[in-house]
Amino acid sequence: MDNIRLRFPPSPTGKIHIGNMRTALFNWLVAEQKGGELVLRIEDTDQARSSKEFEEIIIREMEWLGLEADEGVGIGGEYGPYRQTERLDIYQKHGDELLESGHAYKCYCTQAELEEMRNKAVENDKMPRYDGSCRNLSQAEKEAYEAEGRDYVLRFKMPKEERLIVVDDIIRGKVEFNSSVLDDFIIFKSDGMATYNFAVVIDDALMKISHVIRGEDHLSNTPKQIMIYKALNFELPKFAHLPLILDENKAKLKKRGKDSVYVGEFREQGYLPEALFNFMALLGWSSGDEEEILSKEEIIKRFALEDVNKSGAVFDREKLNWMNGKYIRSAELDRILDLSIPFLIESGLIDSDYAKENRDWLAEVIDEARTGVNYLAQIPAEAELFLTELEFEDPQSAAEEFSGEDVKLVFAALKEKLYAKKELTPERVAEIFKELKDELDVGARTIYHPTRLAITGKGSGPEMTSVISIFGADEVALRLDNALELAE
Ligand code: GLU
Repeated sequence: MDNIRLRFPPSPTGKIHIGNMRTALFNWLVAEQKGGELVLRIEDTDQARSSKEFEEIIIREMEWLGLEADEGVGIGGEYGPYRQTERLDIYQKHGDELLESGHAYKCYCTQAELEEMRNKAVENDKMPRYDGSCRNLSQAEKEAYEAEGRDYVLRFKMPKEERLIVVDDIIRGKVEFNSSVLDDFIIFKSDGMATYNFAVVIDDALMKISHVIRGEDHLSNTPKQIMIYKALNFELPKFAHLPLILDENKAKLKKRGKDSVYVGEFREQGYLPEALFNFMALLGWSSGDEEEILSKEEIIKRFALEDVNKSGAVFDREKLNWMNGKYIRSAELDRILDLSIPFLIESGLIDSDYAKENRDWLAEVIDEARTGVNYLAQIPAEAELFLTELEFEDPQSAAEEFSGEDVKLVFAALKEKLYAKKELTPERVAEIFKELKDELDVGARTIYHPTRLAITGKGSGPEMTSVISIFGADEVALRLDNALELAE
């Protein structure tokens, strides 16, 4: 196989989550790095659970992360169609071929018969599996079933003799399976729908996929698929099974529940795509050194399937938060502002007109607010101080705090110095505070504490130098005056 061709074949049966997106990412990385193509195929044979809406979500979230495919659903290409429900005639043709070559057979067993088979196996402490009743039906028996009007499924005929099936996995090395533990599995259901294990092989082979990179949960399917490749004389692709993603308790990551991991939820909470990209790349892979903040380009350059771990990758939300915070602080302010405004509007702190009219001031507010957040949904709490009327948590004790003569002295000197400076950068404000300490005969606490309280209403919070620089001299002077009035 000369061309490197990857595929991402999600089933659109739910909102796409981190686990699946990590698979998409690793495939995308290999394609990007080796100049290969990534095919997006939609595996919608489970028609009851598949929906167009989920398919659109997959495409939209891939786009958001910059993981666009080169070929497939929504793009086109020479190996289409790329939705499995549009490929039934292709599966049919290969199913017929297996029937004719004796690799598959029609099974007429009813649900009740299969149920009984299963119960018997369980009673005898055996693995429930199909007993091969229909494997060698005579022509007359087949005709009798047909005459009864029985439905049938198509089963793959697993070789009777024991055989080792070796999955040569790029990450796991050689993984051996014994054919005797494999069932005569169904490749076509009675409703004419191909099953996953069958359709996936036909598609991967006809779409000339060179590398099948997918989650470890599919490793046990691979020997069955290899048997189909062989029966149809298809060339085998290379396989790589990615480690499972585990939660902080080392249990398989749950998609639902309070800590859900849908990609869309991270987007909605204000995680940046480049942060999630970086974080997902490290779910099972590491660059080999300590550095964890890696650009897209660096990851593409350094990524290697051979370096992917075999053991489960822990999804560490704290690490994601830390990483996202870093990306938020180093991103272009203008972009962070644009992304933050909807959160401010949503929280009722501002409306869209205000955002338009006060963009420069908001940029200063967001620049300060972003120093304290992990994701942008936390911005309103940090920015609130600048966008609401001043309110004292405890007006009574605030009044006491402002009542001393020393405080009057500090406030008066501070006001004077603020007006004396042209532009109030945080650095200049820091100089002012230093001067106050040097020039006034009062303790440091008397300089800092009442000032913070008068300006923010709170005893602690963001850097005062930034706060004062953002509010400007007029607003600060007003707040200092109001505080003194409160004390009278
Ligand atoms: N539709 C399957 C899934 O989403 C694809 C598995 C595979 O990559 O073969 O799990």
